[in-house]
Amino acid sequence: MAENRSQCSSRRNDNTKTIASQTPQPTPREQGMAGSLPYPCLPRPREDCIGIVCDYSDISTLDHVIANAAIKGKSQVYRNCIGLSRSIGHSQEPFFLTKYLKTKMKATGPITVADYMREVLTNPVTGYYMHRDVIGDKGDFITSPEVGQLFGEMVAIWLFSEWQKVGSPNPLQLVELGPGRGSLSEDLLRVFAKFGAANLVSLHLVELSPHLGRLQAQRLCGDTTKENEPNSVENHYRSGTSLHGTPVFWYHRLQDVPQYFSCVVANEFFDALPVHKFQKTEAGWREILIDIDPNDENKFKYVISRGETLASRLFIKKTECRNHLEVSPESAVIIQHIVDRLEEDGGIALLADYGHNGTNTDTFRAFKRHQLWDPLAEPGTADLTADVDFSCLKDAAGDRVVTFGPVSQREFLINMGIEVRLEMLLKSCKPELKDRLVTGYHLMVDKEKMGDRFKFFALFPSVLKEHLKKFPVAGFHNA
Ligand code: SAH
Repeated sequence: MAENRSQCSSRRNDNTKTIASQTPQPTPREQGMAGSLPYPCLPRPREDCIGIVCDYSDISTLDHVIANAAIKGKSQVYRNCIGLSRSIGHSQEPFFLTKYLKTKMKATGPITVADYMREVLTNPVTGYYMHRDVIGDKGDFITSPEVGQLFGEMVAIWLFSEWQKVGSPNPLQLVELGPGRGSLSEDLLRVFAKFGAANLVSLHLVELSPHLGRLQAQRLCGDTTKENEPNSVENHYRSGTSLHGTPVFWYHRLQDVPQYFSCVVANEFFDALPVHKFQKTEAGWREILIDIDPNDENKFKYVISRGETLASRLFIKKTECRNHLEVSPESAVIIQHIVDRLEEDGGIALLADYGHNGTNTDTFRAFKRHQLWDPLAEPGTADLTADVDFSCLKDAAGDRVVTFGPVSQREFLINMGIEVRLEMLLKSCKPELKDRLVTGYHLMVDKEKMGDRFKFFALFPSVLKEHLKKFPVAGFHNA
């Protein structure tokens, strides 16, 4: 457990500012057709845009193509780019991303918020996650597995008991999406080893960040990992053996993980996936885009598309009642990959994140050193995040799976017996650790801390529907 972990703030949105308050207010002229909207209207194509005449309705087409390429071909794209970033080293140039984004905007016009988020977080050369440790008291945000072992233990016990209830299919793959520093995986392996299942499982980590991937390797396997050039037979880029003797593999995307029965977990992974933002106007839905600030070439500002974009046409339901909306198509695609896997190979998925059930609106925000930060300022130096819309995940999952939740983290952890476990640990731990355990417990469970904002959501293949009625899923009693 890291020193003082529990004293850090999480990426909660209690102080969430609206975009309007993060964005310099437009002048009346800038507002143009947008009237009283907090976003200036999209400017006409620039004359200096390197000869590319850009119809703004194409921006989302471009964005969509990039997103699809990222999802479908990510492995190859990222392998190439990571190779490139290794060969040139991590660019230390402070405003590399600002320059890169400006060049992109000069060439093709404003970009979608999704495109911005993707570049800022996972650009292989200087993306936020790619080359440093951003989690914990010395980073920008704290997550529940970093707060202490209780969170990971409850998740592990849930996975173990649900796996047993479906007959302990063997072999079992534990799959974690976005493992950060590897704390949750470490807890999972420890609990599975305690239950005598270390030799029945393998661990599969889906991680884009070379730096965090190395941290995970060191933490879980010591110095025993070896790099692998992914090929048609072996898709992993690294492998090793954990301190408990469990084989561990690393991948760039979920589709590369071998197709066996899998328990898939993800904590604070979906909130890092790109979102499109939309605003309802008198003329209909418009997309919020990001452009160079005409008053300061080194800054960015939000603008609003003049007409519909492909994304606004594709992703907004006719029945939508909100005026502002965030949609993450990439999350939907990953959910569908999880569902394919559960249906074809069997498995269980447990997702935890802060989020809502189709009610929240403007949640895109940034965190730097545990404080809210302007998402458009100094891109690449702060974490970008948006609340997860579990209703969208549920829609994307469809009826091939049975879903449970979202329930609050507080409810899930208490249902799973976190209080009993805390009591046990308090009896056996060193006196100097007691305070930390209790503070960590409150941070994870208290309503005004992480307890209410964070939610748990589970997916099972629909073939288990009747079975789950007889043997109800643990942790989701009121779901
Ligand atoms: N689950 C961890 C870390 C959360 S931070 C915890 O709870 O502590 C988000 C993690 O997801 C990081 O490891 C980041 O590198 C990874 N990540 C972000 N976007 C990703 C993507 N598109 N594919 C794979 N991993 C990604």
